[in-house]
Amino acid sequence: MKGGTRHAAVPIIGTALVTGGTSGIGLAFARALAARGCALVLVARDRQRLDGVAEELRSEHGIAVETIEADLTDHAETNRVAQRLQDTAAPVDILVNNAGNGIHAPLTVEDMSIHEVSMDLMVRAVLLLGGAAGRTMSARGRGLIINVGSVAGLVPMGTYSAIKAWVNMYSESLSLELRRDGVQVMTLIPGWVRTEFHGRASIRTSAIPNFLWLESDRLVEDCLRDVEAGKTRSVPSRRFKVIAWAAQRAPRALVRRATALIKKGRA
Ligand code: NAP
Repeated sequence: MKGGTRHAAVPIIGTALVTGGTSGIGLAFARALAARGCALVLVARDRQRLDGVAEELRSEHGIAVETIEADLTDHAETNRVAQRLQDTAAPVDILVNNAGNGIHAPLTVEDMSIHEVSMDLMVRAVLLLGGAAGRTMSARGRGLIINVGSVAGLVPMGTYSAIKAWVNMYSESLSLELRRDGVQVMTLIPGWVRTEFHGRASIRTSAIPNFLWLESDRLVEDCLRDVEAGKTRSVPSRRFKVIAWAAQRAPRALVRRATALIKKGRA
């Protein structure tokens, strides 16, 4: 088991902090963890939505739900969430490093702000929160960190792909670093999932065939089953397992050509 891809499975119990826990994949994690009896700490920017989801989960599952209104592109607000992860008086057993956004802008756009804030949200915040959770969990000798990467991180589709390639590699590295300390790190690598993600970023999806879309509840159940099996990487659905396999092993010229076709369909 020294450097392998399996880990002694960490039980899915205790308190889970989910970033972006009010919509899409994060909300599906919040619901699935609540159904397993976990207490929750939900992090997002929209206060009203945080309160609504917290109330729904408390009344449906009888669990404790804490909320933190924070913009994870803001350094001080990210530090506040990191401090919560390091609070040994109210330990967090599970971190779902999930909050993210789509990017619909060329690499040469004059206003680079969407690229910059996306790196703050999906690189800087993921690194700081993963570090805070990793340190605290390894001192306790147990914990689970789920980082949400993407199949997009395996193909060249702009800043978003570059960021998710970082998440995929960061998460695998963190898994190696913490495996001896009883902390399981899972890299979730989703394909296309029906959430608010594409609409929020004005990304056209009409060219993506229906059969390729995943549902977030099913995606999360598949991921948690992989966690329980002691795995450190989860690519839910057979179709995206095949796509991920091909993206990593097919000749690069073929990967570039297929990516260019997808980009054309979105233009
Ligand atoms: P979503 O439905 O748009 O949900 C995004 C969540 O993140 C919301 O709860 C949002 O709440 C929160 N969030 C966004 N910006 C934030 C910020 N600056 N600070 C704090 N919270 C923020 O998107 P999703 O599809 O579930 O995406 C979740 C993760 O999955 C992302 O990392 C994404 O890259 C990844 N992913 C998605 C797909 C897909 O096809 N959907 C595929 C692969 C990977 P507020 O707006 O209230 O802050």
